[in-house]
Amino acid sequence: MDCDADYLIIGQGIAGSVLADKLLARGQRVLVVDDGHRTSSTRVAAGMINPLAGKRLALSPGSDWLLPAAKGYFAQLEARTGTRVFHPLPIRRVLRNTNERKRLEKKRAIPTYTPYIGEVSPPGSLGDVNDPHGSFITLGGGYVASGPLLSSLRERLRQANALAEVEFHHEDLELLPAGVRWQGRVYQTVVFCEGMRLRDNPWFSDIVTDPVKGEILDLKLPNPPEGEILNKGKWLLPQENGQVRLGATYERSCLDTEPTPEGREQLMDALRQIFPEHPGEQVVAQAAGVRVCTPDNQPLIGRHREHPALALFNGFGSKGNSLVPGWAEVFTASLVGAEMDQPLPTLYRS
Ligand SMILES: Cc1cc2nc3c(=O)[nH]c(=O)nc-3n(C[C@H](O)[C@H](O)[C@H](O)COP(=O)(O)OP(=O)(O)OC[C@H]3O[C@@H](n4cnc5c(N)ncnc54)[C@H](O)[C@@H]3O)c2cc1C
Repeated sequence: MDCDADYLIIGQGIAGSVLADKLLARGQRVLVVDDGHRTSSTRVAAGMINPLAGKRLALSPGSDWLLPAAKGYFAQLEARTGTRVFHPLPIRRVLRNTNERKRLEKKRAIPTYTPYIGEVSPPGSLGDVNDPHGSFITLGGGYVASGPLLSSLRERLRQANALAEVEFHHEDLELLPAGVRWQGRVYQTVVFCEGMRLRDNPWFSDIVTDPVKGEILDLKLPNPPEGEILNKGKWLLPQENGQVRLGATYERSCLDTEPTPEGREQLMDALRQIFPEHPGEQVVAQAAGVRVCTPDNQPLIGRHREHPALALFNGFGSKGNSLVPGWAEVFTASLVGAEMDQPLPTLYRS
């Protein structure tokens, strides 16, 4: 069948944008549909890349290839567009108890961890910060500025005439024997990169997710942390404009994108845990989004089992910036029939 374009991509968050960019780079014809980031969690996210996130101080599975793939992609995007996207920064982890301290000592002895563990500081070294168990530096991380990332990729799509800034309605999609039709044009495959609105997708309603709402605050602090991200359960991320971002909450009972007084209170409590003396903060903004997490922490990538013209690229949980570029490369190779460096995770798993 003759198609008007090869891929229809729903959503221009980090997932849809990077996938489209990689498909365009392989000479594919693409149209990305987005409603102005109405529910985008990429727009809300702090964008941290933290090789040793989580209580267990564990390297995530696949970080040996996913982290270099992410950093390589952002560097290449910066070179192409002249827009700064990735800000490498040390991440100072304030240890919260003696168990964490012991865990750190064990990890330091493991060769795969040594590139990620920097200076270890004794208790009381951080001035205003409450650090009764000391702290250490995680290396190899930083943050992705999501505004510049999304706008430079949106510009790339506009220039390629590959962006429709409208809302997509699932009922307008017609399934054909091989392909789909939308607004009078035929596409070989539609890839849904809808973020939290996967829950409205009638074809993938049997895919199990574990969505988690998150809220963050933008603050002005008289003495913001400089030159490093501070992490003590919640994190403080210095921004280029002198403000800091404080995040994030984890909430499973209410899954909308509305900031709440409870979210703000939780974050302010965390700030008081970090700085026991009043830090003199001023709240500038509050935002909320929903992370599409999965029970096994694996992303949701692949074609529909009955309608192969429908595909998913979603489920990046709280690590979109670390995971999307690497998986977008593998999925692109799979879509165009090229050799894949990694196998894709199974989409249908119970
Ligand atoms: C508070 C918070 C903090 C976070 N912090 C981090 C962090 O530090 N590091 C990190 O890596 N990740 C973080 N994340 C997670 C990160 O945001 C996600 O992993 C990632 O952004 C998901 O990207 P996505 O493209 O899949 O979804 P989204 O960014 O949500 O993109 C989906 C897009 O599709 C559009 N869309 C959906 N349906 C339609 C439709 N029918 N018609 C038109 N458009 C549609 C939406 O409006 C949106 O623009 C955080 C998330 C939250 C909520």
